[in-house]
Amino acid sequence: MKNVTKQQVKDQLGRPLRDIRISVIDRCNFRCQYCMPAELFGPDYAFLPKSELLTYEEITRLASIFIKLGVEKIRLTGGEPLLRKDLPILVEMLSKINGLKDIALTTNGVLLPKYASQLKEAGLERINISLDSLNDELFGEINGRNVGVGPVLQGIEAAKGAGLRIKINMVVKKGLNDSEIIQMATYCKEQNLELRFIEYMDVGSTNGWMMEDVVTKQQIYEILKEHFEFEPVEAAYYGEVAKRYRYKGTDINFGFITSVSESFCSTCTRARLSANGQIFTCLFNGNGHNIRDFIRSGATDQDVEERIKGIWNHRSDRYSDERTEETRIARKKIEMSYIGG
Ligand code: SAM
Ligand code: SF4
Ligand code: SF4
Repeated sequence: MKNVTKQQVKDQLGRPLRDIRISVIDRCNFRCQYCMPAELFGPDYAFLPKSELLTYEEITRLASIFIKLGVEKIRLTGGEPLLRKDLPILVEMLSKINGLKDIALTTNGVLLPKYASQLKEAGLERINISLDSLNDELFGEINGRNVGVGPVLQGIEAAKGAGLRIKINMVVKKGLNDSEIIQMATYCKEQNLELRFIEYMDVGSTNGWMMEDVVTKQQIYEILKEHFEFEPVEAAYYGEVAKRYRYKGTDINFGFITSVSESFCSTCTRARLSANGQIFTCLFNGNGHNIRDFIRSGATDQDVEERIKGIWNHRSDRYSDERTEETRIARKKIEMSYIGG
């Protein structure tokens, strides 16, 4: 990928714009309890009609403008991004943009046997696959669709076979899958996969989040300490979200995403683009900035660039730094399946 002259826009807290998460679809083939509980996302749930979704051309156009403003990394997400028709075509379009350094995808993995090779050929380098348990029954209960672990493990194999770099995401919720921490760590270590323990977050307003359900980094750390020897790894770059460790005597890492117990807002360089073209400057925003209608009304690239610059310049979000029971309840927040984590 070629270099390009970039501007460095900064927000109110001096944070540059470096990465963007693009949700390509709000639908999903799972109903994970902590994200899209089946009781609330039932058969009558009104998902976005196709006309409201950004087209691949619109996504690529916006991505090029974001890259001019300093973005280096793109992560595609959802809903379940592999449910969007012909996703490898989007990957190919994005990977051709000058100045983009990294393109990744987060998926539940079920459709990877079908798409992993095409994604790699299209230019995808990295993939995060979500897996919260190795126990079929428990996993089926968590994903709300009674899907066992097999399809995800096959997805992991397909991603490996295609030569993608893989990380595994495990959301840990107290009393649900905290008993699975050691099994998951052992499996990932044996398979040479980087595991990320994600603290259960109060995203959206449908998952019934309570602080008591969070298993913190420190608690997971203590559990792991009893079984493994490991050492901290330096952050690889400014704004790296995961706090990483390496199993001693190996080059296998694992990490923690500590949104609740150790917030990282001061170095948050991430914008989010929802499937229907709203820009969110924080995972915990209630409303986004409607860039879709702006581009559909005939705005030039220069106009769009100025609009995005203005949005970023005004940004002062630091929700996790400020989280209290009051702010949590008072805040209207967008659902995770809408903007993709
Ligand atoms: N469907 C894809 C998947 O599950 O990987 C991509 C979208 S999903 C919203 C992105 C990531 O957010 C997943 O790793 C998922 O486990 C995580 N996630 C969803 N709800 C969460 C919550 N309440 N707290 C922490 N992580 C959550
Ligand atoms: Fe779907 Fe991913 Fe949310 Fe699970 S976490 S319901 S797989 S979008
Ligand atoms: Fe970034 Fe908002 Fe998360 Fe803070 S709470 S790290 S500003 S997304």
